[in-house]
Amino acid sequence: MQDVAAQAFGNPSSPHWAGRAARQVLDDAREELADFIGVRSGAIVFTSGGTEANNLAIHGWCSTQKPGRVITSAIEHPSVLRPLEHLEATGWEVIRLQPDKDGVVRAEDVAENINNNTRMVVLMAANNETGAIQPVAEVGAICREKSTTLLVDAVQALGKTDINVGEWNADFISFSAHKIGGPRGVGALMVRRGLKINELAPGGGQERKRRSGTENVPGIAGFAAALGKIYFKGLEPVRDAFERKLHEQLPNMHVFSEHVSRTPNTSMFCAPGMEGETLLMQLDLAGFAVASGSACSSGQREPSHVLVAMGADHEQARSSLRVSFGPDNTVDDATALVHELVRIRKRLISMAGAIREQG
Ligand code: PLP
Repeated sequence: MQDVAAQAFGNPSSPHWAGRAARQVLDDAREELADFIGVRSGAIVFTSGGTEANNLAIHGWCSTQKPGRVITSAIEHPSVLRPLEHLEATGWEVIRLQPDKDGVVRAEDVAENINNNTRMVVLMAANNETGAIQPVAEVGAICREKSTTLLVDAVQALGKTDINVGEWNADFISFSAHKIGGPRGVGALMVRRGLKINELAPGGGQERKRRSGTENVPGIAGFAAALGKIYFKGLEPVRDAFERKLHEQLPNMHVFSEHVSRTPNTSMFCAPGMEGETLLMQLDLAGFAVASGSACSSGQREPSHVLVAMGADHEQARSSLRVSFGPDNTVDDATALVHELVRIRKRLISMAGAIREQG
């Protein structure tokens, strides 16, 4: 990325030597991503990330259609749920399918809900909180049979599970570079050949008039450089060792989606009786960076919409933590994390006892 920023600093739309050098970097990166997922390079539209890719597919496609029905799931990322709320406010009908208790959406539910008014189905390939893999190929087959347009949010799947565009039969697929170790603020949307979409922000007509604005050439080069570099499958033994030790040492822990296929690096669990946010802060002090199952919005701690949709009660959702193992993590790190959780739990219990005695 540094080399590209220093040496290919031209505007890739400019015909002069500096522009051509940048154009070459952009073309090569587009080719690499297209090869990686098995599509033609003309299908790739570079964006500022997964959020923009999802918005571009949803608004870009639906604005070419008469208002109708969109089918999605209740466990999608906010970058899908929020644009769909906007559509709903303008007269569209949005069906949000509930997953089963393991956080997996049923393909039959998609089939049952497709009617003549259905303009789009939107489904993630893997959930960002639990890692649960969704039945995209089955849903793709249903969409093909019913001639319904399909957007797959593959932000969490890229590099972590097999992406078989042919089998998915998707019309749009969204990606984000930072989930595979690439730079933040870069992503892409695959658009099936022949599909016309409207731009979100009209301008100079870059990316074949699908996404105007001068491309982030160093970021895009970084995205291409990251493809296939991290062997996420190698993290499965680390994640599994973590969950084994968690069950051994903290017997009342519940791991979400434990018995279904998941992305190899994700573990979401709840620690009954403990606040996820408190655990997160204590772990942070001990040098661990984890996520909690609640999101802070307008000062309120909202329980995770994913866990709530899976049937978890608010108490469980509030006591949940998510660990995403990275390429440098080892089984020793997983063991150290469980030890720290045990230590924090003991300390919190003894503090609660002291407060009770004083009270
Ligand atoms: N979709 C999913 C499933 C995600 O997990 C994320 C980010 O976490 C996004 C979309 C948004 O991607 P970005 O952060 O690149 O906008």
